[in-house]
Amino acid sequence: VVELRGIRKSFGRTEVLRGIDLDVLPGTVTVLLGPSGSGKSTLLRTINHLEKVDAGTVRVHGELIGYRRAGRHLRELHEREVLRQRSRIGFVFQDFNLFPHLTVLENVVEAPVSAQRRDRREVETEALALLERVGLRDKAREYPRRLSGGQQQRVAIARALALRPELVLFDKPTSALDPELVGEVLDVLRDLAGSGTTMVVVTHEIGFAREVADRVVFLSDGVVVEEGTAAQVLDAPQHERTRAFLARVL
Ligand code: ATP
Repeated sequence: VVELRGIRKSFGRTEVLRGIDLDVLPGTVTVLLGPSGSGKSTLLRTINHLEKVDAGTVRVHGELIGYRRAGRHLRELHEREVLRQRSRIGFVFQDFNLFPHLTVLENVVEAPVSAQRRDRREVETEALALLERVGLRDKAREYPRRLSGGQQQRVAIARALALRPELVLFDKPTSALDPELVGEVLDVLRDLAGSGTTMVVVTHEIGFAREVADRVVFLSDGVVVEEGTAAQVLDAPQHERTRAFLARVL
């Protein structure tokens, strides 16, 4: 589903991503792990062009993201085209990013209606089913501020799914939550993983990675140090940097 090739990205003088290749297969869960500042979120954000790359290419289902070929060069796509591409990729932010002035249901319905021009009635029916799935059918008419962090994040997940995305990206989906609320969000992620949703997840939850990830990718200093199955990377890491990281977090 996703093909990253030679991704490079700098902020000022710091090169945060230093040549990253990554493939994500359909129906799999890929977890990106690594020390703070290693570039995980930046990498995730390049997949839907929230972050522009300095070099390299991103493809989702074979389609170049953010650019088109013009002879030997790449030209940046028009914002409208980028939005169209983004509407096929779900994104769940660390801090939920719900629209505060819209109800839960309106939050979920908004993008499919405005970005995908789908019928509001039909989308509403689907949105209610999604809210049911994340256990929040009874909160449909509430405003986000009246919900707990865990509930807000579950709404954000329903909102991402409402786009019928080919792929869902999660940027540290539990790290803004109080510890007792982490479990309910991880339960939803487990359910999605079990139903074959293609997911890329940046997280510090090693237990979740061990249980759910088909592939674990360990990043450090802007490069992929090691990748493999959860068992390979977490239980038998080959590289000293991976071992040092795991020793610190486990
Ligand atoms: P963490 O686990 O701590 O969130 P991370 O691995 O996700 O870290 P990134 O958020 O990708 O790391 O950040 C990588 C580096 O890039 C950091 O040094 C960060 O300060 C820097 N950085 C990220 N975004 C920007 C930005 N918009 N402008 C300047 N520097 C940035």
